[in-house]
Amino acid sequence: MAVVAIVGGQWGDEGKGKVIDLLAEKARMVARFSGGDNAGHTVINPYGEFKLHLVPSGIFSPQVTCIIGNGVVINPASLLKEIDDLQNHGVDTSHLVISDRAHLIMPYHTLLDGLEEERRKQKALGTTRRGIGPAFSDKVARLGIRAGDLLNKDIFLSHLKSALEFKNAILTKVYQVSPLSLEEIYEQYCHYGERLAPFIRETSSIIHEALIKEWLILLEGAQGTLLDPDFGTYPYVTSSSPLAGAGAIGTGISPMAIDRVLGVFKAYITRVGGGPMPTELKDEVGKLIREKAHEYGATTGRPRRCGWFDAVAGRFSSQVNGFSDIALTHLDIYDGFPSIKICTAYEFNGRTLNYFPSDSSILGKCQPIYEELPGWQESTAEIRDFGKLPPQARRYMARLEELLSCRISLVSIGPRREQMIQVRSIL
Ligand code: GDP
Repeated sequence: MAVVAIVGGQWGDEGKGKVIDLLAEKARMVARFSGGDNAGHTVINPYGEFKLHLVPSGIFSPQVTCIIGNGVVINPASLLKEIDDLQNHGVDTSHLVISDRAHLIMPYHTLLDGLEEERRKQKALGTTRRGIGPAFSDKVARLGIRAGDLLNKDIFLSHLKSALEFKNAILTKVYQVSPLSLEEIYEQYCHYGERLAPFIRETSSIIHEALIKEWLILLEGAQGTLLDPDFGTYPYVTSSSPLAGAGAIGTGISPMAIDRVLGVFKAYITRVGGGPMPTELKDEVGKLIREKAHEYGATTGRPRRCGWFDAVAGRFSSQVNGFSDIALTHLDIYDGFPSIKICTAYEFNGRTLNYFPSDSSILGKCQPIYEELPGWQESTAEIRDFGKLPPQARRYMARLEELLSCRISLVSIGPRREQMIQVRSIL
């Protein structure tokens, strides 16, 4: 079998959850490799409609071992709530495993996330204020507390004491707010630890065993490439890498073990939070896309900014991830559009740019250069055969394949699991 990394090709919310839920039917393992509960993967299947923030989207397939990898940061309260919600809907969660190396989001992370955003004022990054950035900062600052620490109360207390001493100094002296109580956090997290203990394991060896058995393993990405701390629109980025390469590091396998990289793209583009977005549509077309596709954040409910497909950004995304295949979602949203635009280059200071600039202030001033293609008037939602899609839709996809130098292997034409056309096998 194979290891397939599934990665957001744009600014997130491309529909990765739906794609993974579908592919998981054939898989034996799904391992989430980055981000935290700032992700919101929507899955609509026979169990109901779910917004998964931490639990891998393979949880609905009982034969799948679902791993929350070492590259994820975990808010124990939100993970427990998610597990309870799933169980209340009749979903078996006994096949969930949590890496003992995954870092924990602590109450000071959430508090500091909000305080830091307030301090930035007009320059706020638009974070979800869930403490993800501060938790990843502590990981590299060697101040973090890991899931495995919850299994030993003495170790946990000693790590918590050192971290909280420092955090309380920042809270009181820099932000002039009240300090947090060691006892309260300790009690609360010991309780979380007791509930999560059965799930916490050393996971890289579990994945390694699955590799030896040649299971089909899906590496589940969160957010999207253009939010990567290195290659995204810095500083308007997320705090862990959503790229395919992080699939190896965030689960503890060799990069050479990854056989295929599936990039998930919307047929248009969206972005939530601050930062440049050259093809953003602030007009009626943008509004139409938002309302038709319900483009409101799965985690925060914030309206998403909508725009035409940006093939300059898409090409860059394809380049840094090495996509072997693309899953194109939301094609149905274009049903009834008289024509559709694709941004093929940018104009900056009278020059044509064919690349994605690394400087966000330049990207913010780039004007999109569009190519216009004819739209189609029929509904695609019930089509299950690629050949039956309107010729204009197939032409649109062929042009995207050309621009991204990658084949589209899956086409999604609605939110439900069965609304997916497999053009070719990705395995
Ligand atoms: P993810 O984080 O990448 O999994 O994406 P989100 O769950 O944040 O957002 C994707 C949204 O689009 C969800 O509400 C999905 O139910 C919905 N969706 C996924 N694929 C399609 C599609 O092909 N067409 C339509 N109309 N909606 C889709």
